[in-house]
Amino acid sequence: MNDFFKKVSLYVKEAIDASKYLLDGLSVTFDHLRRRPVTVQYPYEKLIPSERYRGRIHYEFDKCIACEVCVRVCPINLPVVDWVMNKETKKKELRNYSIDFGVCIFCGNCVEYCPTNCLSMTEEYELATFDRHNLNFDNVALGRLPTNVTTDPSVKALRELTYLPKGVMDPHEVPDSDSRPGKLPEEVYDWMISKDSKEDKPQTLPKN
Ligand code: SF4
Ligand code: SF4
Repeated sequence: MNDFFKKVSLYVKEAIDASKYLLDGLSVTFDHLRRRPVTVQYPYEKLIPSERYRGRIHYEFDKCIACEVCVRVCPINLPVVDWVMNKETKKKELRNYSIDFGVCIFCGNCVEYCPTNCLSMTEEYELATFDRHNLNFDNVALGRLPTNVTTDPSVKALRELTYLPKGVMDPHEVPDSDSRPGKLPEEVYDWMISKDSKEDKPQTLPKN
């Protein structure tokens, strides 16, 4: 008889524990039900990177003097400056320049210290590739003009997480009356269409 009661009490305890875990899970679900969405519908929508965003490095071959300052200031001596000494002119001749973005930590040291400003950081962050060796950019790849979210006609550029008020990053407990800073994707699209039909100027986003 004693065994029977023990088994029943164990079963009841387990049932109570299970319902507690279930309620814990559901509380997370309900918590998310009452917050505003933060989703960006990538790749159809993209957030505009901040002004000083450190993205893919752009390089101008013609301005480079092969001084190798960028190599010395790089924490991992990453840039490869391939040059030969011209014995007649006694000057360095630059052959190739490369940076492996699979290793680069985008600290910006090379850009900061380059004496001829031939390096700059762009807003480009879409560097994903199937083969990591493709991340080793030579001077031609580094010299390619960067893409820009705001000038790409195939994406809707978002200034901030559109559904939240300016400066708010936590989507919980934001009253419905608080206005959002950016436009919703469909509003941006409508604005672009209406502006396009009025004038032929290049597209820029409206100020909020
Ligand atoms: S610091 Fe600038 S100029 Fe000197 S090698 Fe590097 S990229 Fe070229
Ligand atoms: S950004 Fe930093 S890690 Fe990358 S190449 Fe320049 S100095 Fe090196």
